[in-house]
Parts: sequence; structure tokens; C-alpha cells
Amino acid sequence: MKAMSVEADFPEDGGDELFEIHDSLLKEAKNVREYSYKPKNLLDLKIHLARQALKNCDLCERKCRVDRSGRRGFCGVGVESRIASMFPHTGEEEMLVPSGTIFYTGCTFRCVFCQNWDISQFPERGTAVPPKKVAQWLESENVINANFVGGEPTPNLHHILRTMRSLSKPLPMIWNSNMYMSEKCMKLLDGATDLYLADFKYGNDECALKYSSAPDYVKIVRRNHLLAERHADLLVRHLVLPGHVECCSYKVLEMLKGMNALVNVMNQYRPDYKACEFPEINRKITEEEYEQAVKKAKELKLEILTQRT
Ligand code: SF4
Repeated sequence: MKAMSVEADFPEDGGDELFEIHDSLLKEAKNVREYSYKPKNLLDLKIHLARQALKNCDLCERKCRVDRSGRRGFCGVGVESRIASMFPHTGEEEMLVPSGTIFYTGCTFRCVFCQNWDISQFPERGTAVPPKKVAQWLESENVINANFVGGEPTPNLHHILRTMRSLSKPLPMIWNSNMYMSEKCMKLLDGATDLYLADFKYGNDECALKYSSAPDYVKIVRRNHLLAERHADLLVRHLVLPGHVECCSYKVLEMLKGMNALVNVMNQYRPDYKACEFPEINRKITEEEYEQAVKKAKELKLEILTQRT
């Protein structure tokens, strides 16, 4: 969290010009080598800007531009973030556990096979837990990072940054996401997040629209992966979908070629939620499909993690 080591003096009533201050302080943050937290710092400015964004929300590429204090956008998340559960996760990638995982309700996608659909598609569920309480919980558990997921963390950026601000000692921040954030959101994450745990599911827009209702998926997610690679560590999760090895797995893996990223080729797809309405994905993947994806990743010389469940 380099942002907390950069002093920030900004007017609380400032508007969009605050982004100019932000951008110039961000350059300073890039040069931080040793953490020494300042009383008023760049993270405070990021929190201020994230809260401002809620008045005309453009945190993800849906850009609903609603004032979330009164209305709801596509994700259905209001100003108050709601948490379905928090626990020390031991099922994440080996080097990340035990991971202090916070599951928010609501999502910017509508994946028909979502395994967390009971929280992602019901933003009104869960409990409003103040950031200070989440920070206290993180500090009371034996965890090695703060892992923000959902649903989707994006609509909850303000709550997440405030949680990090409330910690009394440094803890690495993980942004565990579908990567459909706006450029503004990416900018506010820069200098704050330490690791992107980044989904990359689809190799073409047609599949993304059909199964996740996500327009322009490839362009947006690819852009954000490239930005993430520059900002922080990047671990890409690619879930192999049944019948989508050529149109999605191969294409995604090809886009990851040459990137400074670890790639987790995941085999745990199971048809959940509304997958039964799509016969072509209403099954688990075969051993052969998984092996084909892994073989491709190896041919491309990606640095891969593989999973068997
Ligand atoms: S986070 Fe995205 S989906 Fe939710 S209100 Fe903002 S722009 Fe819309």
C-alpha cells in the first residue's frame, strides 16, 4: 500500500481537479521504497474520490451514472456496502492462504453459471459492516492478506479503501475481481492494491455477452489486465468452460502471452444457477478439455498454476 506513504494536502470540497492532484501524487507513490505512513495521505484522497464517484457512479464500465444514495445501478449496490461473509480462506492459491476474504453482495456481471449467485445477484442480502469493524476482524485473524471479492469488489471500492485505511498495521490488499472496472476505478486502485486476482474467462465478446451480459468484454478486461500488470502483482484466473476451449481458453491464453503474470488454469467449473438453461454449458468440463487448455498454456510458455479438484 504505497499510497499511505505519500502525504496529500487537498481541499475536501474539491471537484474533478482533485484527480490532477491525485495523478501527481501517484507519480510520487511509484518511487516509494520504504513504507512510512503519513497522517493525511494519498489513500485519503483516493477514498474521497471513490466516495465522490458514488454520486454519478462510473466505477465499472457499465457507467450507470446514478446517484447511489437514492438510486441503484446495474449492480444494485447502494452507498452502503453489504457483506455476506468474511473468513480466513484456505482454498485460495497456496501462496495466498490463509487469506482474510471478504465477500460483498452484488455484482457488475450476470454470469448464468455463477457459483456465488445467492450473494452476487442479491445485493440486498448480507449485512452493512463498518470498515473499522472489517479492519478489526482482519487484525484479529491469522491471515496474511485482505482479499476483497463478492459478488464483485468494484461497487464497494470506497468501503474497501476505508477498510485498508482503518488497519493499524500493513496488510497486503488483494483485488479479487471480474476486471470490468472503469479507468477511473483502475486509477484509484493504482498504488493501493498489491495483487490483482483477476478473472479472464472469455476470449470473445459474443460468449461474454451471452453468459455474463458483459458488453465489450475483451477490450475492457484486456485493457485492465495490462494496467494491472503495470500497477501491482497479477495472478490471472482462467476458468475453463465446457465446450469453450477453442473460442475462449485458447484466445485468453494467447492474450496472456508475454505478460508478467502467473496464470491459474482452473478446472472447477460446475453448472450452477441458470446454467441448466444453456444445454451446451450444463455439464462439468472433461479431463481432455482441461488438458487441452493446460497444453496450450505450456506451449505459450505461460507461468502457470494448475488445479485438480
Ligand atoms: S458499480 Fe458499475 S454497475 Fe454499479 S452503479 Fe456503478 S457503474 Fe453501475
